[in-house]
Amino acid sequence: MTTDLRESVSSLRNRATSRNPRKFTIPLDNMGQTKKVSDYYGELTFDFKTSEDISDAVKKEIISALDAGRGIKKEHAEAVANAVTAWAVKNGATHFCHWFQPLTGGTAEKHDAFFSFNKEGKAIERLSASQLMQGEPDASSFPNGGSRSTFEARGYTTWDLTSPMFLIETVNGKTLCIPTAFVSYLGESLDIKTPLLKSISKLGPAATKFLQLAGHKDSKSVIVTCGAEQEYFLVDKAFYYARPDLVMTGRTLFGALTTRNQQLEDHYFGLIPDRVLAFMQEFDYELHRLGIPSKTRHNEVAPGQFEMAPIFTEANVASDNNQMVMTTMRRIAEKHEMMVLLHEKPFAGINGSGKHVNWSMSDNTGLNLLEPGSEPQSNLRFLATVAIIVNALDRNAKPLRMAISGAGNDHRLGANEAPPSIISAYLGDTLDKIFHAIMEDKSFTPTTNNVINLGTNQLSHLLKDNTDRNRTSPFAFTGNKFEFRAVGSSHAIGFPMTVLNAAVTDVFVEANTYLEAELGKGQTVDQALLGLIKKLMGDSLKAVFNGDGYSKEWVTEASRRGLPNLRTTPEALKTMTNKEDYSFLVRNGIFHETEIETRYNILLERYIKIREIEFETMIDMIHQFVIPSALEYKSVLANLIKGQKEIGGASNFELDAYKKVSTKIDEVHALSQTLHKELSGDHTDHQKYAERIATELMTTVTTMAGVCNELEELIPNQFYMLPKYYDMLFLR
Ligand code: ADP
Ligand code: MG
Repeated sequence: MTTDLRESVSSLRNRATSRNPRKFTIPLDNMGQTKKVSDYYGELTFDFKTSEDISDAVKKEIISALDAGRGIKKEHAEAVANAVTAWAVKNGATHFCHWFQPLTGGTAEKHDAFFSFNKEGKAIERLSASQLMQGEPDASSFPNGGSRSTFEARGYTTWDLTSPMFLIETVNGKTLCIPTAFVSYLGESLDIKTPLLKSISKLGPAATKFLQLAGHKDSKSVIVTCGAEQEYFLVDKAFYYARPDLVMTGRTLFGALTTRNQQLEDHYFGLIPDRVLAFMQEFDYELHRLGIPSKTRHNEVAPGQFEMAPIFTEANVASDNNQMVMTTMRRIAEKHEMMVLLHEKPFAGINGSGKHVNWSMSDNTGLNLLEPGSEPQSNLRFLATVAIIVNALDRNAKPLRMAISGAGNDHRLGANEAPPSIISAYLGDTLDKIFHAIMEDKSFTPTTNNVINLGTNQLSHLLKDNTDRNRTSPFAFTGNKFEFRAVGSSHAIGFPMTVLNAAVTDVFVEANTYLEAELGKGQTVDQALLGLIKKLMGDSLKAVFNGDGYSKEWVTEASRRGLPNLRTTPEALKTMTNKEDYSFLVRNGIFHETEIETRYNILLERYIKIREIEFETMIDMIHQFVIPSALEYKSVLANLIKGQKEIGGASNFELDAYKKVSTKIDEVHALSQTLHKELSGDHTDHQKYAERIATELMTTVTTMAGVCNELEELIPNQFYMLPKYYDMLFLR
């Protein structure tokens, strides 16, 4: 351990509890008034569409090239490059970088100076068209799943014009970030963004065609919309650095529960602590300057847990924004002497964190495809859209589970207060009843235009009044969107959205073929839509579950229904080795087979590495902290017992405690030796090794954590060398 951890826990406690909220002031405008959000919103972003330094003609040309999926002309890129350089330099930027999302799940950037020489050898600030459009980071330093040999190690980052550029500000300067996609020399995607963009570009036309077939002649294009709610924990910096497990693995590997956790349910929406609110205020300010539409902030269920949610945007932008949310959050929290924990389960036994990915689609007229229509004619279109999505979810439950897998989320999915690893959809009572009625041909007359007998335009009212919320479903319909709640708090949302978009595209394409055929046979739009709903829902009602997803009964019931339950990451990742499971991703042009293989290798390796780091950290902490704390207590007890014996006093408690501590030390030591031996074994078959980690080794580790917790409870505070859950969750 490199950090000086000898500072006593009580001194850390003093430090954490004596801090004041960090004062930060929003700057004043020219009139001496505090600036409003609308004054500074987006001031750190540059969008060619709104730049005054680019002519309307150029903007129009770029947009039409984008719409047609063509590359843009070099002189147009030059115009943007000049405008953005002038803007960035004026705002104090010295460097630019191609900002991308490699398969690590985070973001990467390679900085380059604007500084350059002109023909006369004079120093200038410049960004050329080609520098804007393409970069060439060494791909071999990023996970590539063994898909390329070193001579092909070149990778390219390509400017994504659909997401605004932005400035990152640090104490000593600013850097212009250019959102880019990252592909290999051979054109294989090595990032999160490329397949996401592909999936959006496939879903859009398929959904548009569906709308047109459903009678929406004005629909010309459809975009995917997303608003990602972000949950997180905040821990005082002093405690964070005193817990090597938090630093190395992002979660506590052990820790005894406090007497009050979340039983009283008083934290959710409760009063936000001053220091935290001070952080949130500065955090919101920074997000708004970055053009990220942060909207809500509140406490979450667990003590020390919070949430932010933005106003939804186009999915690709939402995905970039969420990455920026995570980095900005960390940066600002640290200024407030707090550390953000984005791990899905930082504290065992306490609520985990997720990322609720609210997802929908909307067309060029502003129509939200998941908005129950206020016009009766649109009710069937709405119901058919829901049926398409549920069918997609049902058919592709395994790949969707795969897309949200990861070592962290394994602790959360299926734990007592998180959506289970069984993928199902929640529709709510009303919708459920409507679908059942349709299936049973009840009170529906598909021959007239006013097909829904529930009353002319009552569907939207019915659903609006249908306020029941289900917090236990991994994929819940929430009025006018689906909420993919099983996504982990640390995940890049791009990947799960890609798989979801692709799954839905696949069914849209089939639905369109069906509708065309039925309409061709002379059926009315309503008849055709109704037929479609029956066909899709008939197959997929089994994936609809409106009950308590946390209950044991659901696991049994789901298995009876034949729904897959992939409990661990290695199990879920196996989906990527089964052609039948992932073929829709290839069929719809989202991934090549090799790209699936790449991802499988990377994610599996990542899982193994994360667990190995956890195991090694655990062994280390047991020997550095837990056992030494126990031994110190033991020696005090031993001296007491000895002394008391000399004077003929009784030592019943002391002897008992001494024995208990001794036994626990031996137990935890033996377990840690077993684990150590396992780690040094031969692990050539990665899939098998990962599966063994997920089952056997994780069981060993859970037992070890249990013994550590018992020791923590036996040892008095004064001897225990690590901050406890009490400190990390309650003191700030
Ligand atoms: P709640 O689900 O808690 O009631 P909201 O309805 O405000 O909260 O929505 C939560 C998130 O869903 C917000 O980020 C919001 O912007 C997003 N959202 C709302 N409508 C849509 C939509 N049509 N598509 C995608 N996300 C949406
Ligand atoms: Mg919500």
